[in-house]
Amino acid sequence: MKIITIKIVSAISVLITALSISSCNNAKKIETELYAMNTIIKLSFYKEDGSQLVSEEINRIEKLLSVTDTESDVGQINCSGGQGVSVSKDTIKVLNTAKNIYNDTNGCFDPSVYPVVRLWGFTTDEYKVPDDNEIDALVPYVDYSRVRIDGSSVIVPKGMQLDLGGIAKGYAGERCRDILVKNGITSAVLSIGGNVQTVGLKPDGSRWKIGLKNPDGGENLCSIEVGECAVVTSGGYERYFEKDGKVYHHIIDPKTGKPASGGYKSVTVICQNGAQADALSTAFFVGGEKLIGEYLKNHKNVNVILYTDNNEFYISRAIEDSITFQTGKGQMLHYID
Ligand code: AMP
Ligand code: MG
Repeated sequence: MKIITIKIVSAISVLITALSISSCNNAKKIETELYAMNTIIKLSFYKEDGSQLVSEEINRIEKLLSVTDTESDVGQINCSGGQGVSVSKDTIKVLNTAKNIYNDTNGCFDPSVYPVVRLWGFTTDEYKVPDDNEIDALVPYVDYSRVRIDGSSVIVPKGMQLDLGGIAKGYAGERCRDILVKNGITSAVLSIGGNVQTVGLKPDGSRWKIGLKNPDGGENLCSIEVGECAVVTSGGYERYFEKDGKVYHHIIDPKTGKPASGGYKSVTVICQNGAQADALSTAFFVGGEKLIGEYLKNHKNVNVILYTDNNEFYISRAIEDSITFQTGKGQMLHYID
């Protein structure tokens, strides 16, 4: 069996490396790399350096939301055996945002997919293609509507378990932005895996140009100009394995228990709220054009760039003028709203 993974060897705690300090338009640029939340985090600061603040906050959130840490809030919930568990305010906030996105996406975003994600080996890197009967035995336990949130207490029915991996990085991004702003840091870009969070504007007051990765490698697909917001991408290429020439990726359709196969390479969501953008990008990868079109009708502040297996783009009209396509891309352009 041929296994290919792009996962990076994990580190126990967040490491900070000051990569470079350069000067651009008279503004000092400080670039830093961390490893946390199972991914590489790249930080760029243009005035004051806020990497210590970001590192501390990401460490704090990882300790609450990590699915592999039995001491975390999520770890405690997952071994509660159906009993109520008291958790932090952050965890409640993330669980409630997840509930809203679950409801608004017909369950395409469902954190209770964890038993299935684990069966495929995506949390342990011990990948396998499960038998259909193994999957079918777990799918009935995937139902976030059965999770009760009451004050600071969470009740997850016996047999069910949660994984906030589809929303936690976006939440971390928005929390870091709040902390940086509170500390007077007004110009930064945080890239947490596929989750970009900008803080303020560039030092000269202009908007940021955020590059979108090409799932097939090479030059970026396109770039988008944005102010302060979250730009979050989900794609099968971020974590996958191959068996017998077939690719199996980490975004699971909660209804089938199998990797979602809507025909998309990546989905990018652009909006003000990081947790919302993160959960939506995962849900939209599962639900595709129909779900996205319906969601956008009622959420005018959310914009999308969908890139299909046929190299076609479906975008929100509102962001058309903010996108610059890589040469040779962008001819196959459609509107999604
Ligand atoms: P993302 O990279 O944000 O799209 O999140 C993908 C991660 O979220 C996976 O690695 C799983 O841990 C988890 N996940 C997979 N499928 C789903 C789903 N349908 N709803 C919620 N979380 C999911
Ligand atoms: Mg996500």
